[in-house]
Amino acid sequence: TQYVYRFGGGVSDGGKGDKNLLGGKGANLAEMASIGLPVPPGFTISTAMCTRYYEEGERFPDSLRDEVATGIAHIEGVTAKTFGDPANPLLVSVRSGARVSMPGMMDTVLNLGLNDATVEGLATGSGDERFAWDSYRRFIQMYADVVLELDHGAFEEALEVAKEDNGYYLDTELTAADLKALVGEYKSLVEQAWGKPFPQDVHDQLWGAVAAVFGSWNADRAKVYRRINDISGSWGTAVNVQAMVFGNMGDTSATGVAFTRDPSTGDNAYYGEFLINAQGEDVVAGIRTPQYLTKAAREEAGAKPASMEEAMPEVYAQLAGVFDTLERHYRDMQDIEFTVEKTQLWMLQTRTGKRTAKAALRIAVDMASEGLITREEAILRVDPMALDQLLHPTLDPAAVRDVIAKGLPASPGAASGTVVFDADTAEKRAAAGEAVILVRTETSPEDIHGMHAAKGILTARGGMTSHAAVVARGMGRPCVSGAGTLSIDAKAKVMRVGDRSVKEGDMLTIDGSTGEVMAGQVATVNPELSGDFTTLMAWADGVRRLRVRANAETPLDCRTARDFGAEGVGLCRTEHMFFDAARITAVRQMILATDEAGRRAALAKLLPEQRADFAAIFAIMTGLPVTIRLLDPPLHEFLPHAEADFADVATATGVDIDTLKRRAAELHEFNPMLGHRGCRLGVTYPEIYETQARAIFEAAIDVAEQSGAAPIPEVMIPLVATKRELDLMKVVVDKAARAVFAERGREIDYLVGTMIELPRAALRAGAIAETADFFSFGTNDLTQTTLGVSRDDAARFLGTYVDQGIYERDPFVSIDVEGVGELIEIAAQRGRQTRPDIKLGICGEHGGDPASIAFCEQVGLDYVSASPYRVPIARLAAAQAAL
Ligand code: PEP
Ligand code: MG
Repeated sequence: TQYVYRFGGGVSDGGKGDKNLLGGKGANLAEMASIGLPVPPGFTISTAMCTRYYEEGERFPDSLRDEVATGIAHIEGVTAKTFGDPANPLLVSVRSGARVSMPGMMDTVLNLGLNDATVEGLATGSGDERFAWDSYRRFIQMYADVVLELDHGAFEEALEVAKEDNGYYLDTELTAADLKALVGEYKSLVEQAWGKPFPQDVHDQLWGAVAAVFGSWNADRAKVYRRINDISGSWGTAVNVQAMVFGNMGDTSATGVAFTRDPSTGDNAYYGEFLINAQGEDVVAGIRTPQYLTKAAREEAGAKPASMEEAMPEVYAQLAGVFDTLERHYRDMQDIEFTVEKTQLWMLQTRTGKRTAKAALRIAVDMASEGLITREEAILRVDPMALDQLLHPTLDPAAVRDVIAKGLPASPGAASGTVVFDADTAEKRAAAGEAVILVRTETSPEDIHGMHAAKGILTARGGMTSHAAVVARGMGRPCVSGAGTLSIDAKAKVMRVGDRSVKEGDMLTIDGSTGEVMAGQVATVNPELSGDFTTLMAWADGVRRLRVRANAETPLDCRTARDFGAEGVGLCRTEHMFFDAARITAVRQMILATDEAGRRAALAKLLPEQRADFAAIFAIMTGLPVTIRLLDPPLHEFLPHAEADFADVATATGVDIDTLKRRAAELHEFNPMLGHRGCRLGVTYPEIYETQARAIFEAAIDVAEQSGAAPIPEVMIPLVATKRELDLMKVVVDKAARAVFAERGREIDYLVGTMIELPRAALRAGAIAETADFFSFGTNDLTQTTLGVSRDDAARFLGTYVDQGIYERDPFVSIDVEGVGELIEIAAQRGRQTRPDIKLGICGEHGGDPASIAFCEQVGLDYVSASPYRVPIARLAAAQAAL
C-alpha cells in the first residue's frame, strides 16, 4: 500500500475526493495544486498510516522510510533546496489534517529542518540573520512544546528575561545576536528538561513531529471534540509535510485567513484578516490585532491600519482571483489560509467554510440564484438542526440594556445566563439545568466541553477568526470575542470593567450579533424570519412528500406552530389541560369520586372548559387535521404528593383529608408507566373518554358554525395493545359523536385511531387496523417498551451506552432503526394490508429529529409531528429525505 501522496510543482497524487485517505487539508492541497493554484510543494502521509501506526503499537513500518524519503526528494526537487543542507536548507511545516476539520485540536510544527548548521544557511540565503535566528528560536519552542511535550512556561520566561535585560518592550526589538543567545538558552532548557540535547538531525526532527501529530489524534481534547461532533476515533489523522513559506520576511510579506463570503451573515463579500510581516499562527492566536482584507470592510469598521487591498493591491488582486477560482471549483463558500512571501502569494489551505445558520441560508439561496448550484443542492446544503439558531428569540430592541462592554460580534444570537470562568464549572452548572455564559480571556481547545455546555461565550481577547469565534459559530453558540476592556481574573472568579465587577454566578447577557455585553438579563422577542428562510423553506416544501404537523395543546403553541408552517396538530395531549389551576380541583373531584355518578358530576364541570380548549385549537388550525389524544397519564399524577398540600386540596375538593390520603395511597403504583394509564383509564372509566369526546365534537360544531369551515378532528386512543381495547373505546367515541350530532342537528367528519406505542400493538397492527382509521407512532413509549428502558431514568446509563457504541445515538432522541424501526415497519405494513388508505404518522419526540425523519420517509409514513420550534427543522429534513 501507498502511504505518501505528493502535491505541488505540477504533481498531485491525490485530489479533493480523497478526504478519507488524505484528510481534508491534504486532499484540498492536492486539489488546489492540480488546478494550478500556487501551493508550496509537499506530501501527505495518509490516515491509513495513522490507523496502522496505532495497530502496530505506535511504530512506523520500515517501508514508510522510503516513501517519506521520496516525498522529501519531491519537495527538494521543486524548491531546489535540500533538507538538512547547511548551505541551502529546506525547511518544512508538519501539520495534522483529519477527514473533517477539528479547529485547533491537533498539533502543528513549523520551521522544521533548522539546526545549528542550517540556521546559518537560512541566514545567508534570506540575507536576514535576525529572521533566521528568530525562526530557529520559534522552532525550538514549538518543537519542545508539541513534540517533546515540555512545559512552555520556561521558554516564555526566558524570552521575557531577554527583553527585560535589554530594556526592550516588543519581541521585534530583539537583535540577531540577542536571538542567537536566546537559542543557546532554549537549547539548554530542552536538555535540562528532556535529558537529551535538542535533536540536530533533521530526519530525527521530522519523525518526532510526525509521531507527535499522530499522537495528538488521541489527546484528551481531541477525544472530547470528536464526541461532541460525532467523529469516529477510527478515522485517524493524516500528516502534511510541506515546504515552509514565510510571511515574516519584512513588509512585502504577510499571512492571513479569509472566507470567500461572510461566514456570519452570508453576504457575498470577501471577509478576512491578515497581518503584515507575521507567521501563520499569529493571526489566529490573537496576539496582534489583525488588519482587514478589504478596503470596504476597513472603512465600515472605521479602522485605521491599511487593508490588504490598500497595502498590497497587486497581491490582493491575485488573491481575489484565487477566491473566485476556488468558489467556482468547489461550488461552496471556502475558508482559506494564505501567506505572502516577498510579494509571492501561496495558498496553504482551503476548506468548506463553517457558517452560521443565517449565513448557510443566505449562501445556499444566493448560490442557487447565481446558478452555481441547483435548488436541490441548496436544500441539502443547510443543516436542519442549525435552523434552531434562527427560530429562537433575540434581544428585544425596546428593552433597557445596561451595556458594560463591547466586543466583536463573533457568533450571532443572544444569550443570558450566569457567569462562569472555567469550562469545568460551565459543564457542571449546565448539567444542573442552569443557563451559563462562559467567560474567558481567550479560549483554547481545552475549553471545548465548557463551550458546548454554555449558552453563550465571551472572551476578552481574539478576533473574528479566533478559536472562540470559530468554534462558537460551528456549535451555533452566541459569542462575543475580543471585548478588550474586560479584565478577567479566572482564579478569583471575577471580571472587572471600569469600576464595575462581575462575579461568578452573576447574570450576564451577550448579543453575538452586535458584540454587546450587558449586565443582568435582557428581555427577548421572537425573530423575524428573513426572506432567505422563506425562500429556502418554500423550495423544501416543493420537494417534500411527508406532511409536517405539530405537537401542541395551547393556543400559543398552536399559533407558533402554524406560523412555522405546521399542517395540523399531530398530538394534542389533553392531560396538560387538566393541570390548569382553574380546573385541577374538578379533575381531583373526578378522581376522588367513589362512583360513576360522582365522576360524571365532576366531569360536567370540566366539559365546558375542555370544549373551549378544543374550540381555540380548531379555530387556529382551520381546515387542518387536529389529532386529540384522550387522557393518558396515571390518575395519581393529579393528586398531591407533598404532605403540606393535602390539607389545601382536601378543602378545595370538599373531601376529608383521610379519604384523600387513602385514595392517593390506593392509586399508588410501583410502575406507573406500565400501570393504570392510557386506554386502560377509558376501559375502566368510560365516562372520562365519553366526556372528552363530547367536548371535541361540540367544539368542532361550534367552530364550524362560527367560521363556516369544519375542522377535522382525529380522536386518538393511547396505549392500545389489543384490537378489543380500541373496539371498546371507539364505541364510546362514536356514541358521543352521534349524541352531539343529534343534539346539534349537524354532522362533521372525524376519524378514530390509535397510537402505536406498545410492541404488541405493532405486531397486531393488522387486526387493530380493522378498527383504526389511523395510526400515530408514539415512539417515546414505543422506545421505552421495546428497549425495556425507562424514558425517565435512562439518563443515568445511556451516556455510557452511547460511548460504548451499544446504541449509536440516544434512542430517545434518534430512532433506534434496527429495533423500534423494525416494529414500525411491521406495523405500517400490516396496517396497510388491512386498510390500504390507513393514515400513518409519528408523534414521539423523534418526529422532530432529522435522522428519524429520514427513516419515516423510507417507511412511507404520511406525516411527522414535532414540537412547534422543530416544525421548520422537520420541513427541511423531510425535503432532504425526499431528495
Ligand atoms: C409517545 O409515547 O411517543 C407519545 C407521543 O406520547 P407521550 O410522550 O405523551 O407518552
Ligand atoms: Mg406515549
